[in-house]
Amino acid sequence: MALPAWAVKLGGAAAKGLFSGDDGKNIIKAIVFIILGMIALFVALLTAFPTVLLYLPFASEDQIGLFYEVVQDYSKDKVEIPWEEVAAVWGALHNQDYSGVNKARIKALAENWVEEHEEEVKDKNGKTHTKVTYTLRDFDDVMDDLKMTDEQKELAKNLAVGLVSDAVPPPKGWKASTAGALMWPVPEKYSSSAWITCAYGYRLDPFDHTPSFHHGVDIGVPEGTAVYAVRDGTVERVSENKTYGINITLKSGMYEIRYAHLSGVLVDEGDSVKKGDIIARSGNTGKSTGPHLHFEVKCGGQYINPLTFY
Ligand SMILES: [Zn+2]
Repeated sequence: MALPAWAVKLGGAAAKGLFSGDDGKNIIKAIVFIILGMIALFVALLTAFPTVLLYLPFASEDQIGLFYEVVQDYSKDKVEIPWEEVAAVWGALHNQDYSGVNKARIKALAENWVEEHEEEVKDKNGKTHTKVTYTLRDFDDVMDDLKMTDEQKELAKNLAVGLVSDAVPPPKGWKASTAGALMWPVPEKYSSSAWITCAYGYRLDPFDHTPSFHHGVDIGVPEGTAVYAVRDGTVERVSENKTYGINITLKSGMYEIRYAHLSGVLVDEGDSVKKGDIIARSGNTGKSTGPHLHFEVKCGGQYINPLTFY
C-alpha cells in the first residue's frame, strides 16, 4: 500500500512535534508507527464494513414495512412469499439503495417467486375447466432468473437472514466479556447467549407481527433482578410510557444508555451513579411479553448493537 505524500509529510510533522530535537531515529520510528497504525485502521475498516453491509439493510422501517405489506397482500390466495427474500433481493440489486421502492415495483419483483400452473380438469358434469395453481419458487432459482451475480446472491442471502429475525443473535455458548467499556447490566450469571431473548436488529414485532427495528437487546431475567449502571454517569431521565414501561436513561460521556420494562427505580433524575451501582429492578412493564430487561446503547446519538461492547 503506497502512502500519499501528504500522509508522509503529516507523519513527519507529527513526529517532529512528538520528539523534540533532531533525533532522526525517533522520527523514523514515529513514521513507521504512524504507517503501521494506518494499515491497522485500513484492515479494521475492511473487516468491519462487511458486517454492517451484510446484516443491516439500508432501508427505513417504512420501506421495509412496505415490502411486508405488499408481499403479504400479493401472496394472498397464492403461496406465502417470504417478504424478507424480496426485500433482500431488492437490496442486492440496487446496491442497498431502497429510495426507489413503491408498491408496483415491489409487486413486480415479488411475482418472480410465484410459479403458475394451469391444469385442465373435468368437473362432475364432464365439463373441462382450467384450474390454476401456484407454487413457491426456490430462492436460488429466483436469483438465477434475475441474473444476479454471485456477489449479489451472497449479499441477498445475508440480508434475508438479517431481516427474517433478530439481526445478529449471539452464537450458542457466547458469553459477555466484562473487559470492555460497559459492564453487563444484570448479574453475571445472566451474561450468556442463553439469556438473550431478542437481539438487536429487524424482527417481527411480537404484538402486531410487522417488521420493526429492535433498538436494543432483551435479556430474559426474572422480575426483580438487579440492574446495574454499566458506566459512571448521570441519571438523565426516569420515565414511564406504554412502550418502554418504567425506564431509565443514563448519560455517560458520549453514551446514552437506556434500561426499560423495569419494575422499580432506585435513583432519581440528576443522580450521579458509579459503574456497578444497582439503579433499578427489572420487570415486565410497558409493551412486554414477559419479564426481561430491554437494554439500549446510543453512542454519539446513534443506536449501536449493545452486544458489540461485550
Ligand atoms: Zn427489547
